[in-house]
Amino acid sequence: MNILTFDIEDWFHTFDKPYYNSPSLWNTLPSAIESDVSRICDILDETNTKATFFTLGWIAKHHPAIVKKISEKGHQIGLHSYLHQQVGHLNEKEFSSDLKKNIEVIEEIIGQKVKSFRAPGFSLKETEQWALESMLELGVNIDSSLISNETFNGIGSLPASPFRLSINGKEMYEFPQIKVDIFSFMFFYLSSGYFRLTPKNIIKRALENKDYTMNYFHPRDFNTQTHKLFSSPLLKLKYRIGTKSAARKLKQLCKQADYISIDQANELINWNDTPLFEL
Ligand SMILES: [Zn+2]
Repeated sequence: MNILTFDIEDWFHTFDKPYYNSPSLWNTLPSAIESDVSRICDILDETNTKATFFTLGWIAKHHPAIVKKISEKGHQIGLHSYLHQQVGHLNEKEFSSDLKKNIEVIEEIIGQKVKSFRAPGFSLKETEQWALESMLELGVNIDSSLISNETFNGIGSLPASPFRLSINGKEMYEFPQIKVDIFSFMFFYLSSGYFRLTPKNIIKRALENKDYTMNYFHPRDFNTQTHKLFSSPLLKLKYRIGTKSAARKLKQLCKQADYISIDQANELINWNDTPLFEL
């Protein structure tokens, strides 16, 4: 199965200075999120594709119509925290309160329970089991924050397919991001900036050879203008590379990959057949 996900945040929600952890600045900056999300929705409509949109609480609060539009089109809304803080920059109480705000603002808009989460920048690391415990306490039991082949709290090498984590008698269903091995020496994720840099034929081949892939993109990956808003030349380059062809490449992939959302994948998986790790 090929799973398609988007992390819904604006161009200034990256971890780069001076915007990271500066929400008071965010309101003063030009937003590109409405047109960027419309562009993505148009591609998904044209290719009859459903996806999961992990959405920042801050975006939902300031642009509720976007969240409503995504949901009304039949896509899944997931959680991406309220203020896009990396998990390790918060303590357990701060993480829980941020996630609770994220849940409340989104559930208020779409009128449905949200149960899936992705940590900003896949920042859920080795020793942060407490974050998974907070999620389960808040009713969030599907996660897509971990990365295959990496370690987590004593688990040696995480599988490159969905698996379960048992925590205090509750189960977390994990859809990991995967690393892909190209030509035996090059590792990258078929997503976001890596996707923009990679020729579409290589991406297509990598997708064809896998039973499970998890692709993630940001709205800014398809915007050819927002890189100009960054102040440093390096960031301008980082956020410009590949944006011109990204929308075209995504459209072609949607036609070829039979992408599904995480909730569609959840329906297809027999979780009893997946690896279970006790934490
Ligand atoms: Zn993010």
